[in-house]
Amino acid sequence: MDKDRSSQAPPHVLVFPIPLQGHINSMIKLSELLALAGFRITFLNSDHNHERLVKLTDMATHFARYPGFEFKTITDGLPPDHPRTGNWFMENYVEVIEPKTKQNLREILLNISPPVDCIIGDGFLGFVLDVGKDLGIPVICFRTSSPHGFWVYHSIPDIIQAGELPIKDMDRLITTVPGMETYLRCRDLPSFCRAPDMEDPIVKLVFKETRRSTQANALILNTTEELDGPILSQIRTKCRNIYALGPIHAQLNTRLKAKHRDPHDHFSNTLWKEDESCISWLDQQSNRSVIYVSFGSITTMSRDKLVEVWYGLVNSKAKFLLVVRPNFMTGEDSEGEDDVVRELLEKTKDRGYTVQWAPQEAVLNHPAVGGFLTHSGWNSTLESIVAGVPMICWPYFADQQVNSRAVSEVWKIGLDMKDVCDRKVVEKMVNKVMVDRKEEFAKSAAEMAKLINQSVNEGGSSCSNLDRLIEDIREMRL
Ligand code: UDP
Repeated sequence: MDKDRSSQAPPHVLVFPIPLQGHINSMIKLSELLALAGFRITFLNSDHNHERLVKLTDMATHFARYPGFEFKTITDGLPPDHPRTGNWFMENYVEVIEPKTKQNLREILLNISPPVDCIIGDGFLGFVLDVGKDLGIPVICFRTSSPHGFWVYHSIPDIIQAGELPIKDMDRLITTVPGMETYLRCRDLPSFCRAPDMEDPIVKLVFKETRRSTQANALILNTTEELDGPILSQIRTKCRNIYALGPIHAQLNTRLKAKHRDPHDHFSNTLWKEDESCISWLDQQSNRSVIYVSFGSITTMSRDKLVEVWYGLVNSKAKFLLVVRPNFMTGEDSEGEDDVVRELLEKTKDRGYTVQWAPQEAVLNHPAVGGFLTHSGWNSTLESIVAGVPMICWPYFADQQVNSRAVSEVWKIGLDMKDVCDRKVVEKMVNKVMVDRKEEFAKSAAEMAKLINQSVNEGGSSCSNLDRLIEDIREMRL
C-alpha cells in the first residue's frame, strides 16, 4: 500500500454497514458528517443494496458534492434472487456472509488507493477487526442498535448463569443486567436472548459479536448522554472509548444547516421508493390528529395480524397513515396480498391513507402527526424522539423488545403494547395516546425532544463527541 501520502491529505475512512436498511441509514449519515469535515470516504455497500439505491435514489448526484466520496460494492454471498426477508442476515451470517465477505474485504483494502487510515465497521461484523489488525488499520465499531440492546446482549452469559433463562414468568424482573434491575422484565429481553443456554446459535453469535465490538479501538453509539447516560456508564466499564454522537440524523441536519445547506435536501437512502403523496394527504389533516403506523424494513406480519391492526385503527378515534411494505405479509397469508391491501384501502378512504413506503422523517415532523405506532426499531425510535412524537410500541425482534420498555418505563414518552395484538388493544392504545392522555404524552415527548435536540447543537454532548471522533481520526492519519 502507498504510505507516502502527504500528511496534508484528508484522512481516508472506509465505512462498512451490514446490508440492512436501519444499519445503512445511520452509517451513511455518519459518512456524510465525516465528508462535511473534509474526509475522504469509501462507503462499502452490498452489491444487491447498491443496485437498489442507484435505481431508487439520487445517490450519485447527492454525494458528488463531497470530493473523494466513493461507493464500492461487495457481495453478501447470497444469490441475487434470495428474498432477503425476516431474519435472513443472522441465518446466513456464519455459513455464507462472514467467510465470503472477509476475504473480499481484505482484497479491497489491499488494492484501494489512497490507502485507508481507519475503518468504521458495523459493530455486528466482528471479522472486520481481524482484517484491520492483519493489515495494520485501526477499526472503530459502530453499533447501530440501541445501547439498551447492546448492554443486554453483553450480559447474556450472566443472565444464563444466574438461571434467569429459560423464561418461566414473563413478568419477573431480570436481576443480572447492571443498570436495568428495576425495569427489565423477562418479556423485555431482546428476542435474540431468549434461549436457555449459550449453545443456541443465535445467542452465541449475538454474544460473540457484542464482545468483539468492545475490543475495537473505539465504539460509536447512535445515542446521547441525555437519553442513555446510565447505560453508557455501564458500557464504559467494558470499553473506555465511546463516542455517543447521536441521534445521527439530527446531528446531520444541524451540521447541514450550519453550512447553510438546506437539511431537507438530504439524501434519502431508502431501499423502497418513498411515496410522497402521503405528505399531501397529511397537509389536509388537522394538527396532531393522525397516528403514523409503520413497522420498519424487516418486520413481517401475517394477514390476520395486519387485519387486527387495521380494525383497531379504524375503530379508534384517530385518523391513520399506514405503511404496508411490498414484502411485509408472511407465508401462506401473503397470497392475494394486493387484494387484502386494496380492500383495506377502499374501506378506509375517509379514515386513513396507506402507502408502501413513506418518507418517514418528513412524516414524523409533519404537524398533523400526533403519534407513532412502531415496531421500536432503533432508528424509528430516535426519529420519533427527535420529532417529539409519542409512541405506541409493538416490538417484533432484536433490540426492539427492550427499546419499547425504555420508551414506556424509562423515558415515559409512550406505551408498550408488546406480546398482544388484538383490535381492542390497538384501539385502546391509540385512543390513550391520541385522545385520553394526549396532552400528557405530547408534553413529555416535547420535553425529551428539546433535550435531545440540544445535544446535537454546538456545546451539546453529542456535538462534542462527534468533534472528538473527527479529531481522533485525523490523528490516526498523522
Ligand atoms: N423507513 C422509511 N419509510 C418507511 C418505513 C421506515 O424511511 O415507510 C425508515 C425509517 O425512517 C428508519 C428505517 O427505515 O430510518 C428503519 O430502521 P429501524 O431501525 O427503525 O428498523 P428496521 O428496519 O431496522 O427494523
